[in-house]
Amino acid sequence: MPLIVQKYGGTSVGDLQRIKNVAQRVIRTKKEGNQVVVVVSAMAGETDKLIRMAQEITPTPDERELDVLISTGEQVSIALLAIALKSMGCDAKSYLGFQIKIATDSAFGKARITGIESEKIFEDLKEGRVVVVAGFQGVDEEGNITTLGRGGSDTTAVAIAAALKADVCEIYTDVDGIYTTDPNIYSKARKLSKISYDEMLEMASLGAKVLQIRSVEFAKKYNVPIHVRSSFNDQPGTIVCEEEEEMERVVVSGVTYNKNEAKIEVMRVPDVPGVAAKLFKPIAEANIVVDMIIQTSSADKGYADVAFTVPKPDFPKALQIVKETIKEIGGKEVLSDENIAKVSIVGVGMRSHSNIASQMFSALAKEGINIQMISTSEIKISCIIDSKYTELAVRALHDAFELDKPTVTEER
Ligand code: ASP
Ligand code: MG
Repeated sequence: MPLIVQKYGGTSVGDLQRIKNVAQRVIRTKKEGNQVVVVVSAMAGETDKLIRMAQEITPTPDERELDVLISTGEQVSIALLAIALKSMGCDAKSYLGFQIKIATDSAFGKARITGIESEKIFEDLKEGRVVVVAGFQGVDEEGNITTLGRGGSDTTAVAIAAALKADVCEIYTDVDGIYTTDPNIYSKARKLSKISYDEMLEMASLGAKVLQIRSVEFAKKYNVPIHVRSSFNDQPGTIVCEEEEEMERVVVSGVTYNKNEAKIEVMRVPDVPGVAAKLFKPIAEANIVVDMIIQTSSADKGYADVAFTVPKPDFPKALQIVKETIKEIGGKEVLSDENIAKVSIVGVGMRSHSNIASQMFSALAKEGINIQMISTSEIKISCIIDSKYTELAVRALHDAFELDKPTVTEER
């Protein structure tokens, strides 16, 4: 009998009527001849509310106790869903993370799953029950409750699907799939029927916030197909799976953007060995992740200009560190710009097609958009531009690579 893991996010269980709708869908899935394990998030807004309560007491709540607190949202939703299922005549049983159990390390607030005991789940399934599991939480070796980081129920679901060797992990959310770009920016955005894990990882880290990144890494590692779909309709969504040969034929799968970075430019630092190391070491030590870096030789011989980007929340600190550092290593001035955006094109097909970068640059040039920085990887090309052109750039790239047109495989 096929085994399906279904995960319902906060909005899908946002009120009691929606919980009843979820129960009906679960029952339908079961009646179609599947074994079903359900993972649920807290009802929409609940986790935020719990965090705010702790922060009203102190801005720095104890991490262990904070996890005890914020894991309670899911206890409410699993119980309500199991009550709904049973009231509709479907045998079900709810479990918290430690009951299953979902073992994690002890990194409170960002714990990693280290193992899942699947016996109990299998026993219930054998009895014909639906198993309802709390997302987002686990238990460490000492028996402390842990949580997996915001959005962590996705990872719970994928990890359970991997442990049970489920046929598919369905992630029900308030969007109906993964789009070629943000539909709020471009109405021509098209829902993708399939996308590879690697593309999804790039799209997620670039700002498409549909799935927790870690869940996609997990799915890739254990080869669990994920089906991202809406809990408000019956349309198929987007399958995130291993790369298939036909995916290579599509050169660009998506256009993404990120307005959450800022740029720092250090002008005229001495062009000698060790300078980059001295510049970036204190930034790394402050746990600031640098994204793009460009070094060019300065107009003055023997000097170089270095530009790089950091996440906006880390920008003030990074700027302060750099200003301190150049006092020591030498440097003329430090410039900065918070009004930048990163636009990227993503696609596994880039590996086997040339000229993609130049097509991207031409498309931006045609709109008069200046490119400030460029970075490339095997399956992604990113450009830093003035943030006021973000929407224009996204639309121009979407048009240039004809992402509104269904691919050959989708037409079939
Ligand atoms: N309830 C948790 C959160 O709000 C986990 C999740 O929704 O996936 O982050
Ligand atoms: Mg989520």
